[in-house]
Amino acid sequence: MQELNIGGKLLDEEQIAQKVREMAKEIEEEFEGEEIYVIGILKGACIFVSDLIRHLNCPVKLDFMSLSSYGMSLESSGVVKILKDLDMDIEGKNVLVVEDIIDTGLTMEYLKGYLTARKCKKLKICTLLDKPEGRKCDIVADFTGFHLPDEFIIGYGIDCQENYRNLPYIAYVK
Ligand code: 5GP
Repeated sequence: MQELNIGGKLLDEEQIAQKVREMAKEIEEEFEGEEIYVIGILKGACIFVSDLIRHLNCPVKLDFMSLSSYGMSLESSGVVKILKDLDMDIEGKNVLVVEDIIDTGLTMEYLKGYLTARKCKKLKICTLLDKPEGRKCDIVADFTGFHLPDEFIIGYGIDCQENYRNLPYIAYVK
């Protein structure tokens, strides 16, 4: 019974859809119509990145990376491991990293350093959700959808021990 541990709805489908459209517009403006190499971070950003790229009216290439920081636990370990690296060469390209949620910022700080070393033309970070209270470093995304309180978030691609990714809305766990 998937509904049992859902604490409360934070963002409904229409709020998310509206925000995704707005973010796509901002991103298009930032890259001035040039081609963007979009990197979705698996698995949590899978639904967000799929929705976002369908609103980008510019050439897009899509790749994915998989990183582990939480594993099966509810708290970030701070130790980042690359489980799946890029398939594409991003040297000299406009790159947009698409993340589901930034909490401590440690994952994104590591990833930013890792991708910067690959000498892209422009590197921007986009996150649907941000929990600023959890921050343990100075990372700020270039594009942020919503700021949320320090709760454990699920839905719209984001899991709790691999459950709840299929919820069309965003909620927190009790
Ligand atoms: P950070 O390194 O910023 O602490 O965490 C980044 C990653 O941790 C996110 O990409 C996401 O996968 C996971 N994460 C952070 N906060 C939450 C949360 O509230 N719920 C879930 N399911 N994952 C989270």
